[in-house]
Amino acid sequence: MTPGVVGQPDNTSGRASRGADSPVAAWPWFSRMTEIWWTRNAGRSAIDPARASRASSLIAFAREHSPWYRRAWDGLPQRALTLAELPVATKRELMAHFDEWVTDRRVDRAGIEAFLADRTHIGERYLDEYVVWKSSGSTGEPGIFVQDESALATYDALIAVQLSGTRLAAPYAWGLVARGGRAALIAATGDHFASIASWQRMCRGRPWPNACAFSVMDPLPRLVAELNAYQPAFLASYPTVLAQLADEQAGGRLHIAPTCLWSGGEYLAPATGTAIERAFGCALINEYGASECMSIAYGCREGWLHVNDDWVVLEPVDRDYRPVPPGEASHTVLLTNLANRIQPVIRYDLGDSVLAKPERCACGSPLPAIRAEGRHDDVLAFTAADGRTVSVLPLALTTVVEDAADVHRFQLVQQAPDRLALRLDPRDADRRRIAWHAAAKALHRYLAAQSLANVEIVLDRHPPVADPRSGKLREVIVEHRERAD
Ligand SMILES: [Zn+2]
Repeated sequence: MTPGVVGQPDNTSGRASRGADSPVAAWPWFSRMTEIWWTRNAGRSAIDPARASRASSLIAFAREHSPWYRRAWDGLPQRALTLAELPVATKRELMAHFDEWVTDRRVDRAGIEAFLADRTHIGERYLDEYVVWKSSGSTGEPGIFVQDESALATYDALIAVQLSGTRLAAPYAWGLVARGGRAALIAATGDHFASIASWQRMCRGRPWPNACAFSVMDPLPRLVAELNAYQPAFLASYPTVLAQLADEQAGGRLHIAPTCLWSGGEYLAPATGTAIERAFGCALINEYGASECMSIAYGCREGWLHVNDDWVVLEPVDRDYRPVPPGEASHTVLLTNLANRIQPVIRYDLGDSVLAKPERCACGSPLPAIRAEGRHDDVLAFTAADGRTVSVLPLALTTVVEDAADVHRFQLVQQAPDRLALRLDPRDADRRRIAWHAAAKALHRYLAAQSLANVEIVLDRHPPVADPRSGKLREVIVEHRERAD
């Protein structure tokens, strides 16, 4: 879903300068947070014009300072343009023209690559100004992402607004950590996701004096022992790791009492979020981010993600980049990051599947609610009884299972063009049997509605299997070869 970060030099001393002893350095971040607060409290009548004005100004800036955008928009009218008039940009095109994409002529790909390659630069900013990180290129297309001071101040402000405003427990946790409580980050070694990296960046600043990172590659019993010894007040990781730890906590092997949890880096199913909160008895904050934009959306208590749409524009679209109506899962989503100007991301094909909630969210947030899932390669192709191929979105299948069976750790495996297997956590046999029957019935009903009543649904005796490289659990996988192979 979100690309990983393999190199993330950043100026930790610079970030720390926003502490209480340096009020002037604190100003850009704090003033942006105040601005976000005021805008959102005023509701849509303030958010919409703020977004439109930022979009218009970003477009004008990109047209003037990015030779790539200027050329791509060459045939468009010379007047002020709106997002809807602009063509879609892909990572492949932008990376192929990196030097023309960026808006500061001192920045070039060769210079940045040399900077990233030299380990002695870690902890510094490129040209003393920019934070740079690389995506892991899991989609086959590696990316280099440059962020300016304004973008960083915006991400920090967005995160601070979430931490202080979204949950009752969050301000308490924030205060506790700020006063010396311990924060723990559990991440994949060498593959830190952008959203996790942003949390890590904040940890290094003043408000987080005691932060410790643990490796997700550690065997579970060791991780549990380490956490028992460390007793974090704040715990951040991938949802699948938190779900595993929730099982350990519920089983009495893990004994920690965090006041707040943070989940990022991969899709969090609503039922998983609820189960994690129940096990730890505290609030879980869910962050949806990418290397192209650190803070796209954050989760609410209703299990939806709210787009930071005063600073981010997300357009769910189909395969041909046509808008997809609310209530339907999109093929991909176009991202516009209104905060970063050094490397403008405008109507950028992010590759994630997004489903927009048609009605306003019950949590009361004025921000649009979505569900999001990284996909692209994972769309399942089934063969119907009449021989037709029918595509099914993983997001739809996982939603069916969660809604019907109330399980939070499972895996769907397409084993053949007409067979789907469900893997469930085997720990509790009774619960597993009930979940299996409910899930199988719901899956069959859903597939039948897609003209796939012929698809066999089976219970796999194996438990869900995490990716051996990243340690993360993909909820939907394909494990068969096409017959033509
Ligand atoms: Zn909500």
